[in-house]
Amino acid sequence: MAGKTQRLEVVTPERKVYSEDVEFVVVPGSEGEMGFLPGHTPLASSLKIGAIRVTKEAGAKPLRIAITGGFVEVMDSRVTILTNAAEREDEIDRKRAEAAKERAEQRLAAKMPDLDVMRAELALKRALNRLKLFE
Ligand code: ATP
Repeated sequence: MAGKTQRLEVVTPERKVYSEDVEFVVVPGSEGEMGFLPGHTPLASSLKIGAIRVTKEAGAKPLRIAITGGFVEVMDSRVTILTNAAEREDEIDRKRAEAAKERAEQRLAAKMPDLDVMRAELALKRALNRLKLFE
């Protein structure tokens, strides 16, 4: 029988953002949200910009972790998330995200001929995603 918890690791090129035993994890899959309980079938999938929701124990308030997309692998009651950037909700600098949002919006509104539109749109999405955790 599967145990009560599984190991969740959230890793970026810079640091290990989260490494704990948890009961339940929801991730923003490219095709929609996916939830994992301990003992889930092995799986690998891509993730989009969004939030991971982590429940350490039943009834506890979920912790949210903003990610900028990436990959998830589930195997042997271990959920590993690889992403370029991730912040736990208590780590997000709101002013920085607001400034990033304004910068991206201004770039998109000014429509300079050499603007990298996709880059500006992605920066805006990352900022909005971080700000969503303050709603
Ligand atoms: P910015 O323009 O403010 O750098 P960005 O979306 O371009 O934002 P990223 O490239 O996604 O930033 O991340 C670079 C690093 O900065 C990562 O380590 C990420 O966790 C961190 N980071 C970015 N924005 C914030 C924020 N608002 N609060 C805390 N950490 C942040």
